[in-house]
Amino acid sequence: MNTLYEPTREDLSHILEGEPRYRLDQLWTGLYTHFLHPNNISTLPAALRQRLAQNLPESLIEVKRAESDNGDTIKFLWNLLHDQHPIETVLMYYENRATVCVSTQAGCAMACGFCATGQAGFNRHLTTGEIVEQVVRAAREAAQHNRRIDNIVFMGMGEPLANEPNVWGAVERIHGDIGISARHLTISTVGIVPGIRTLATRPLPVNLAVSLHAARNSLRDELVPINKRYPLEMLLQSCKDYLYTKNRRVTFEWALIDGVNDTDQDARELADLCLQLTPSAHVNLIPLNPTPGWPTVGSSPARVAAFQRLLRDLGVNATTRNNRGTEIAAACGQLAAGQPVTVTPKPIRHHDIK
Ligand code: SAH
Repeated sequence: MNTLYEPTREDLSHILEGEPRYRLDQLWTGLYTHFLHPNNISTLPAALRQRLAQNLPESLIEVKRAESDNGDTIKFLWNLLHDQHPIETVLMYYENRATVCVSTQAGCAMACGFCATGQAGFNRHLTTGEIVEQVVRAAREAAQHNRRIDNIVFMGMGEPLANEPNVWGAVERIHGDIGISARHLTISTVGIVPGIRTLATRPLPVNLAVSLHAARNSLRDELVPINKRYPLEMLLQSCKDYLYTKNRRVTFEWALIDGVNDTDQDARELADLCLQLTPSAHVNLIPLNPTPGWPTVGSSPARVAAFQRLLRDLGVNATTRNNRGTEIAAACGQLAAGQPVTVTPKPIRHHDIK
């Protein structure tokens, strides 16, 4: 069955055949400007609302909502309507903006050992509608607190560039209909080189973030297995080309793992790679979040700070992503992966999530 955020505007015009033409505008604005469920689009007649709700249900069933103690991070756990697979979406409020982190697949096939989603394996690609709906549902929640969504990061469960066509469909809807500009959209990839090349041919200059985590092949082969297929030299070349085509600075993500990739030598190797791009790549340091299936811990705060300082001394701009919502297991896949799905009252603390 088709779900609510799947149809394009043109598809919906067929579904609305026989209705006055302005109904399409009313519905589209209700869905993508006001983030309303059709039942609550008061400009539509009751019979039509009912028909829409029946024929085009939402694709995400809310199972659990985890809220950080200060309320600035909300993590949604959904079950997909069609086959019940769990996926997650995270809504993060900052002082003057709000960001939504969306999943692009149910599970992930990339098998990065430190990642909770990678540990749980792959179920299926998400459709464009299932990706778009995550943004709409988060925006609906934000609207209740008079907040607007400013940024979308494709950094939830899954590998966006293994599902590029559906992800691109979502980018177009989010850009064209929800109205978030390309510079506020970021696609994060494990480093699928053909996907980066496809992205470079797309018309909008979205931000590219690459999960590097190691700057030499021997270590990256271990941490990010897809590196064996697309080694660093190839990956870097595709980043250079993306930068050249899109004129958008590339970001490298680096989860700092104690004693594994946080030495001075690692920082120097990383800086070398960054400086091969012009302007040099920006580094986003993420202290590793612990996951059940990976024994190593994140670097100490002192080590994170020293690593960041060294990068800066070497001429590379680096920021540290504070571990938002650690107590609600907000890192990729931690809420959905490998645990029975239950409805739990909020707030949920990290030690409650097994
Ligand atoms: N598959 C994509 C996007 C999803 S993961 C990618 O690999 O980029 C989003 C980011 O979270 C990636 O940089 C990923 O490496 C990182 N990540 C995954 N598990 C983590 C953990 N346990 N601690 C810190 N970062 C993690």
